[in-house]
Amino acid sequence: MDIKLIDRILALGNIMGYARMAHIETNVDLCVSAWNQGAQKMFGHSENEALGHFLDKLIPVDKETLIQCTRAGTMSISLGNEQGQKIKCDITYAPILSLQAEKLGIALLAINISEKTQLKQRKQQIEEIFGVAPIGMYHVNLDGKITMVNSEYAWMLGFESSDAVLNHVKDFKTQVFFDQEKAKEFMFNIFEADQIISFRCRLKKKDNSYLWALCYAKTTQNKFGRIDGFNGFSVDISATVRTEQALEKANKQLKILSGIDGLTQIPNRRKFDEYLASEWGRHIREKNHLSVIMCDIDFFKYYNDTYGHQAGDECLQQVARAIHDSSCRSSDLIARYGGEEFVLILPNTDMKGAKVVAERVRTSVKNLKIDHKSSTINQYVTLSLGIAATIKGQNTSAKSLVALADKALYEAKEGGRNQSIGKTLNNI
Ligand code: GH3
Ligand code: MG
Ligand code: MG
Repeated sequence: MDIKLIDRILALGNIMGYARMAHIETNVDLCVSAWNQGAQKMFGHSENEALGHFLDKLIPVDKETLIQCTRAGTMSISLGNEQGQKIKCDITYAPILSLQAEKLGIALLAINISEKTQLKQRKQQIEEIFGVAPIGMYHVNLDGKITMVNSEYAWMLGFESSDAVLNHVKDFKTQVFFDQEKAKEFMFNIFEADQIISFRCRLKKKDNSYLWALCYAKTTQNKFGRIDGFNGFSVDISATVRTEQALEKANKQLKILSGIDGLTQIPNRRKFDEYLASEWGRHIREKNHLSVIMCDIDFFKYYNDTYGHQAGDECLQQVARAIHDSSCRSSDLIARYGGEEFVLILPNTDMKGAKVVAERVRTSVKNLKIDHKSSTINQYVTLSLGIAATIKGQNTSAKSLVALADKALYEAKEGGRNQSIGKTLNNI
């Protein structure tokens, strides 16, 4: 044989070894006559261990097919390597023929396709997860375009398919968020902090209705390490939010039923009505005195306008506590009548006693020294009070007692505020 040809064949064998291809030759009985480095790497047997041995004893090839082969063909084999990993090879074989077309042996080329198969399987797995995950998943690029979206996200937004989302949504920020303030916050956070965790917001559906979603996002990078968009994950929490809202409503209702005002934590109007009815009954039966004091914060509208509604709420809480602390009998009831109005029921108390209580209440609120710069009568928050007291033997109704207290309060307001005015029931 031409020496140059031999060199070329050897070089070819070397290249195949580097290329991680196994090159094997056998005689017609499958006894190995050539075993390159690639074969050594792929199957774990050295050249010495392989030469002179039957190929089917070294690797699980189909012996009969190879012995009988008269032309080129392919086969796949699977085997475990030394590290205990399963490898899969595609083998191309062909008979080695003499010039007279006599079969001298068999040549085989094997390629390890495990990595490729694994990658393909991984890709398939990821695509499967992406497709069936009960979580909305998507990718948005720096132009604000959704580049990838799974079915769940499409369904969440009311679209029939992922493609429909890709076609319809041209700008993630303006088209996917229901509240633009939230959209701004989301976009700012994702590029400031690189990720978003538990972001609760409303997402806009195709029909312009909304759903509540819990969103997560993480920026993505291109191959140069530059941020090129973000991956987003969203879960539909509409049912949870509805339950929360119902619970909140039920809690409020429960508070009302329990007779406590949510803001000030003192008895509410409902409790006042119940207590007044029962104390009025006692007053009739036992023929003793009963007084009612209506208190109203002066110029409270201006207070809210000046200091804000939240400060207004805090002021109401302080005033409620002060009124509560200035009554002394356990049978007295202090309630929030509504808005910035409070009311006291003083059983067994005549006008003289009620006036003392009213002045004590008025002074204690004034002494809180809550700044009220828009009040035209005092630098601090003040109260006007209307007192109504029963006279023995004058039994009209509980309602008229409250109406009288209201009337007295009106006179206190008209008379300059920050004062208490008393009226007895027989004055009606
Ligand atoms: P007047 O001296 O005549 O009583 O004047 P006023 O401004 O106090 O009376 P008005 O009835 O005009 O306004 C009452 C204000 O009380 C209006 C309302 O905004 C405020 N208010 C009622 N309930 C609440 C509340 O729960 N929180 C807060 N912050 N403000 C309330
Ligand atoms: Mg009022
Ligand atoms: Mg008022």
